[in-house]
Amino acid sequence: MASFADFHARSLNDRDAFWAEQAQLIDWQTPPQEICDHSNPPFTRWFAGGTTNLCHNAVDRHLKDRADQAALIFVSTETNQEVTYTFRQLHAEVQRVAAMLLELGIKKGDRVLIYMPMIAEAAFAMLACTRIGALHSVVFGGFASGSLASRIDNATPTVVISADAGSRSGKVVPYKPLLDEAITLAKHKPSAVLLVDRGLSAMNLVEGRDHLYGPLRDKHLNTEVPCEWVDATHPSYTLYTSGTTGKPKGVQRDTGGYAVALAASMKHIFQGNPGETYFSTSDIGWVVGHSYIIYGPLIAGMATIMYEGLPTRPDAGVWWNLVEKYKVTVMFSAPTAVRVLKKQDPAFLKKYDLSSLRALFLAGEPLDEPTAEWISEALGVPIIDNYWQTESGWPILTIANGIEKAPSKFGSPGIPMYGYNVKLINENTNEEMTEPGEKGVVVIEGPMPPGFMQTVWQDDKRFVDTYWSSIPGRMVYSTFDWATRDKDGYFFILGRTDDVINVAGHRLGTREIEESISSHPNVAEVAVVGVADQLKGQVAMAFVIIKDPSKVADDAAKLTLEGEIMKVVDSQLGAVARPSRVRFVTALPKTRSGKLLRRAIQAVCEQRDAGDLTTIEDPMALKQIQDMFPPA
Ligand code: ATP
Ligand code: MG
Repeated sequence: MASFADFHARSLNDRDAFWAEQAQLIDWQTPPQEICDHSNPPFTRWFAGGTTNLCHNAVDRHLKDRADQAALIFVSTETNQEVTYTFRQLHAEVQRVAAMLLELGIKKGDRVLIYMPMIAEAAFAMLACTRIGALHSVVFGGFASGSLASRIDNATPTVVISADAGSRSGKVVPYKPLLDEAITLAKHKPSAVLLVDRGLSAMNLVEGRDHLYGPLRDKHLNTEVPCEWVDATHPSYTLYTSGTTGKPKGVQRDTGGYAVALAASMKHIFQGNPGETYFSTSDIGWVVGHSYIIYGPLIAGMATIMYEGLPTRPDAGVWWNLVEKYKVTVMFSAPTAVRVLKKQDPAFLKKYDLSSLRALFLAGEPLDEPTAEWISEALGVPIIDNYWQTESGWPILTIANGIEKAPSKFGSPGIPMYGYNVKLINENTNEEMTEPGEKGVVVIEGPMPPGFMQTVWQDDKRFVDTYWSSIPGRMVYSTFDWATRDKDGYFFILGRTDDVINVAGHRLGTREIEESISSHPNVAEVAVVGVADQLKGQVAMAFVIIKDPSKVADDAAKLTLEGEIMKVVDSQLGAVARPSRVRFVTALPKTRSGKLLRRAIQAVCEQRDAGDLTTIEDPMALKQIQDMFPPA
């Protein structure tokens, strides 16, 4: 086995040869003419002149060897459906949707907005778009009409694909009325709407605009739609960031670079083999869903599970039952889901045969040590934290066991992956930090590797201004995350740069304080924010969900527990890090992808407007905090 250090060094020092090799992992109609064109930084054009197609690489390419093997396994515990599509069947369904889109007037380069629940038709729709060179723009199903309207105006789709309804915890969530309202609100009007009728909720069809998926599909049962070969730099999709730190940013991705990046990551990082089953519990509304529910596993010739439902319904064994049943080898989830499971009876994880499973990958938020240890113990497989962003499309920090086996360190997502020239910068002096333990902003030196965003959709200036202009005099990409690195080069994410707290001149990451508080045995979840303070500049304020609410039944009990938590922080981090108050809540405001909305909490604590809340999951969670801090 090669050493990872050599592999990584080669990816930067012999860039073109390295990526030309990786490019062999996918099919090309015409081979790339130029590997990396970085003549106009910070923009990078990968594999220019080469023509390929994402859908071909995900579907058609596998017909030769595995037409009758499982490709897409749709499981809904909401509607009790379970359907397996082989590669041959997937190929047929995708062509049917492609034919429908062509009939509705879609041409190469047009946008198709997908506002769908986690059903197989959503996967067909995404693949149908890239098949014909149209760009998909997936919007998380069930988003409020206002958020959807702004995305319609930004993506200006010719067609919207949706469904009558989604379902959550057994409750039907009608989508059609939200969509109708969004189209009314939006300035841009799509010319057609394609609707899957799941029979969950009645729909009022708009004459001349709305089309039912079922009957249109019947018309195209046998229509063949060949793949449109597009240049490697042809955009494949647009997708919004989670909106954790502010207004979501529209990420534009290419075709060839993305396909190569995913194929390489499936081999070197996820180690998924053709014929095996991959299970990512994410949603197609997020980047993990794009890269590791749909494209990555399929490009690798794996079957992929698409799951609609909760991790705890009908019981907390539902995911592990699927692992046993479909012999899942690689699984991908988020710390927030593991924290949900942690509150359930651990016996559910022991009930099923998990011997097929080789690793569980977790991403999206810092994975605290206690949670990592708990799940590692419960599953008995390696837990692989990985750090990345909607912008990157695939992991920036993790470990690549496909190159060289490396240990995971709990609390750390790992080391920089091949293709990424990651640095830590002191944001005051703009100097590079090289000593272990120093804290700085995680930045990446260009050119960015394949798969990375091409630009902000229709806004090159915003791309440059947002990401590449924060360190004066140096054109580097800022992740806006704050971290430290240990002597082995492992990174530890300390929080967002926005979340750094400055208490009387001491700089602390919210994550450090949260990690400390969560080591108290009664704490289930915690959010820490910095709040403006006349005396100290800023003070830390903690919001805690406790495991057993009977422990804070009255004010005296609350004060006792608050004191205990402060002592834990004092002893682990020192008195500077001690939160000025610890408040108890029953829920924390999060984005729909499960990330803590610290900036909204902070704004409320400072009696300011909470800002853009378009991606909030449960407004009641923020309301609890608002009630504690009524606006001035
Ligand atoms: P927005 O950019 O709109 O504010 P967002 O940054 O949450 O939203 P995403 O692209 O979904 O949008 O999330 C990327 C961010 O998630 C990273 O920048 C980092 O802060 C956090 N993150 C992802 N994975 C990890 C991880 N393994 N450990 C720590 N943090 C992580
Ligand atoms: Mg971000």
